[in-house]
Amino acid sequence: MSFERFGLSTEILRAVADQGYSQPTPIQAKAIPVVLEGTDLLASAQTGTGKTASFTLPMLQRLSRRRSGRGKPIVRGLVLTPTRELAAQVGDNVKAYGKYLSLKSAVIFGGVNIQGQIRALRNGVDILVATPGRLLDHLQRGTLDVTGIEMLVLDEADRMLDMGFIHDIKKVLAYLPEKRQNLLFSATFSNEIKALANRLLDHPTSVEV
Ligand code: AMP
Repeated sequence: MSFERFGLSTEILRAVADQGYSQPTPIQAKAIPVVLEGTDLLASAQTGTGKTASFTLPMLQRLSRRRSGRGKPIVRGLVLTPTRELAAQVGDNVKAYGKYLSLKSAVIFGGVNIQGQIRALRNGVDILVATPGRLLDHLQRGTLDVTGIEMLVLDEADRMLDMGFIHDIKKVLAYLPEKRQNLLFSATFSNEIKALANRLLDHPTSVEV
C-alpha cells in the first residue's frame, strides 16, 4: 500500500516523499481514511508508530481544501498535547508535511513568555498545536479565537489525564464550537479515558495497532 492510495494532494505527497517514507505505517493505513472522511476517531497507538502523521496528514488535507486564501487565517485545526516537547514535535511535523501548502501553524506552550505567542496568534494561524494550560490562559485573556475550529485532536490523551489536565481540557472544550471533528489518541484506555472519549466523540470509528 502506498500513500497515493489515500487521495492526498500532490503537495502533501511531495512533502511525504521528501521525508523518505515509502509506505504508511499500520496506524496511518487505518486512521488516515477515517479522518479524511470526516468521522470522529478513537485511536489506540503508542508513540513511535507514526501516529503523528496519521492525524497531521489528513488534517492538512482537509483544511487546505477549503482555505479561503484571502484575509487573515483563523484557527481551524487544534492539537492538544501533554508536554511542550511533544507540542514542538507535532508542530515540526505540521510544518514538514505542510511545507508546500499555504497553511500557517503555530505552537504554544507554558513556561515561556506569553507576549510572543500573543503576537503570533494576532497574525492568524490555521493550525495550532498547544498544551492545555497555556491554551486556556490565552482563551481566558481573549488573545485567541477558537470559534472557527473544525478539527480537534487530543494527542497522548492518557498522559494529559495523568498530568492532571482534565479540568483544563474541559474548560477548553467549552470554548469550542459544537460541530467539529474530534480525534483522540491514547496508548492506554482507563475508565477515565473512556469517559473522556464518550463525552468528546460522536459515533467514532475505533482503530487499534
Ligand atoms: P510518531 O509515532 O508519530 O512519533 O513517529 C515516529 C517516527 O516514525 C518519526 O520519526 C516519524 O518521522 C517516522 N515515520 C512516520 N511515518 C512514517 C512512515 N510512513 N515511514 C517511515 N517512517 C515514518
